[in-house]
Amino acid sequence: MNKRILILHTGGTISMVASKQGYVPSENFPARLHEQLESQNLGGTELPLYNLLETDHLIDSSNSTPNDWMAIASLLSQHWHKYEGFVVLHGTDTMAYTASALSFILGEIDKPVILTGSQIPLAKVRNDALSNLVISLTLAANYDIPEVCIYFNGKLVRGNRSTKLKSMQLDAFHSPNFPDLATVGIDVDLQQDLLLEANKPSFKHYEFDPQAVAIVPMYPGVPSSIINSVLSNKKIKALIIQTYGVGNPPDANKALMKRLAKAEEDGIVIVNLSQCLIGGVFQGSYSTGESLNQIGIIGGADLTLEAAFTKLHYLLAKGYSSDEIKPLIAAPLRGECR
Ligand code: ASP
Repeated sequence: MNKRILILHTGGTISMVASKQGYVPSENFPARLHEQLESQNLGGTELPLYNLLETDHLIDSSNSTPNDWMAIASLLSQHWHKYEGFVVLHGTDTMAYTASALSFILGEIDKPVILTGSQIPLAKVRNDALSNLVISLTLAANYDIPEVCIYFNGKLVRGNRSTKLKSMQLDAFHSPNFPDLATVGIDVDLQQDLLLEANKPSFKHYEFDPQAVAIVPMYPGVPSSIINSVLSNKKIKALIIQTYGVGNPPDANKALMKRLAKAEEDGIVIVNLSQCLIGGVFQGSYSTGESLNQIGIIGGADLTLEAAFTKLHYLLAKGYSSDEIKPLIAAPLRGECR
């Protein structure tokens, strides 16, 4: 096997070590990783050739911001022509956000970009780090997967369909509204017909404003002042509201509905997502949801929160107006919604 894969290390549990304050990013991960991978690769032929690159600051991914998405995308695009595939080591906490964001920022691609990480660090004797990494490497080197994906614990899922479902189990990731792209057991069962089409990429640089998108969940008794205080930040250009079931808000709260209608009139793009993970929004099945149609709020179909959030950031970073963004929300750009 002479495929070349770039491993891009950004931090996360996979490379962390224990400290008095709990797990923290560690400096000497490349040497440890190399040693472990070579001990797996006894005949020298089973693993692809790989190089390891690290981002400037290795982070716990809970500290990730939209600027980190662009930094990762830039590194991938700079090295695109030198490698046949890419494995991004990332913390699990916000991996679904980064995978979703990369799917939009990179756009159409012709090589695999597989994000992975682990729930237990490589530094521990019992870990899920090595197998997640080894399998991601072999998938990136041996299969034509022209998408941004997450590989974790036997499953390859589309990045912009993924969410971290479990905090304490090894099968942390789930694709609630789209089938898994592959399952990996003794054999690799890749669902070729589900994959996006391969196309030559044309990478662009985007400037993200980390404050541009906000998220507000609805809850019993939610006051309109919540929307007021969030939107007092004038940098916010898009708001995700998380309503109940198929997209039903508490429409009997007239002050809340009036405040949402005013925000909409002021040019804030408001997207309605369901608090249910599976199924998505059918805005108007109930009159409560229909009230959102009346004031021009867009139903977010079966987008995950991570996909909706990063898609809004991406469309705003492209410089689109709210009228340009609205029809794109529930239309798939990179296979992120039905
Ligand atoms: N806090 C870690 C991170 O997201 C968790 C992990 O990687 O599993 O960086």
